[in-house]
Amino acid sequence: MGRRKKIVQECEQLMDKPEQIRNIAIAAHVDHGKTTLTDNLLAGAGMIADEGEATRLMMDTEEDEQERGITIDAANVSMTHEYEEENHLINLIDTPGHVDFGGDVTRAMRAVDGALVVVDAVEGAMPQTETVVRQALREGVKPALFINKVDRLISELQEGPEEMQERLMDVIGDVNELIRGMTEDRDDIDDWTVSVEDGTVAFGSALYKWGVSAPSMARTGIGFPEIIEMERNDERLELHEQSPLSDVVLDMVAEHFPNPLDAQPRRIPRVWRGDDESELARQMREVDDDGEVVFMVTDISMDPHAGEIATGRLFSGTIKQGQELYVSGTAGKNRVQSVGIFMGGEREELDRGVPAGNIAAVTGLRDAIAGSTVSSLEMTPFESIEHISEPVITKS
Ligand code: GDP
Repeated sequence: MGRRKKIVQECEQLMDKPEQIRNIAIAAHVDHGKTTLTDNLLAGAGMIADEGEATRLMMDTEEDEQERGITIDAANVSMTHEYEEENHLINLIDTPGHVDFGGDVTRAMRAVDGALVVVDAVEGAMPQTETVVRQALREGVKPALFINKVDRLISELQEGPEEMQERLMDVIGDVNELIRGMTEDRDDIDDWTVSVEDGTVAFGSALYKWGVSAPSMARTGIGFPEIIEMERNDERLELHEQSPLSDVVLDMVAEHFPNPLDAQPRRIPRVWRGDDESELARQMREVDDDGEVVFMVTDISMDPHAGEIATGRLFSGTIKQGQELYVSGTAGKNRVQSVGIFMGGEREELDRGVPAGNIAAVTGLRDAIAGSTVSSLEMTPFESIEHISEPVITKS
């Protein structure tokens, strides 16, 4: 069986097990390394060969983007990752890194439960870092931190262990300040600040494909002294082999990001103002795949063959070909033509449909726009997604 087919089959098996699903976004200030990190994850999950360029094709779907060298449209990919002897389905939504596209970042956040915030170790937290953290927390999405480009501290800036530690702790402190400022009055969110000890912070080099976290250091014995030594000796390949970035980050995702069963009870009241005593509210909280279909569209893209594809989060029910669904704000119903998941830039249609808790790609919803609530019964639509693109505090 081909690799792709095998991955699709694995994803299909995992789709029905919400406790093993993680819906995540990677968000960063432009140039901090989101695309390079995504390449690592796809390679680590066996989706592409272990080399850079191939994935640009997978994630950067618009020609326009490649010309400009920035990612504009949110692309999506599903992959699997084994952690503690259990396989996980990781649905990754790509978000634009440019500040002008703040709206798209917010929309992507509605579909996910965890946000991996990438910060360049040299530049530190930037205005767009603040924006993405704000967007994540507003949507009830849990953050974790990846500090990238640590190789530059060693090779370019020639920093020693103390200097490096101080700099990295400063970055963590700045990100936590943002998180704390935005969660202070929230009793539905626990302490979501990130820390090395808890394993919610990882460090590394997306370019050279190595990474570390407290759990990885305990497991591999590769810590900062080893990293400094190996970077200085130009042993980056060895470093990648002994402590691969994709394992470090995907382990963190599996361990620390909530699954839909944990996330939806907290997120639904935050994004939906309908009757929370209703049967429908119960179905959404419980990720009930036998319940009514409730699908929130977060992105519309064009496929040359299939036409418009609505991508979004399925909070309840099972979405299938042939269903007649309401689209909020429009009269009448739309008929679902096909349902699938994204594997890189390509859509994989699944005849059996897609169950609650997943990200689905749906055709036939001709009246849907990004932000539409699509459902099998008429319902209060989800809250409109507020676009935040202005950071409140700007760091110089
Ligand atoms: P994005 O805009 O956040 O998607 O950033 P990219 O992944 O496109 O990276 C921006 C630039 O930083 C590219 O030139 C990358 O090669 C470079 N880069 C990414 N990660 C690293 C890293 O870990 N170390 C170094 N030295 N450069 C990196």
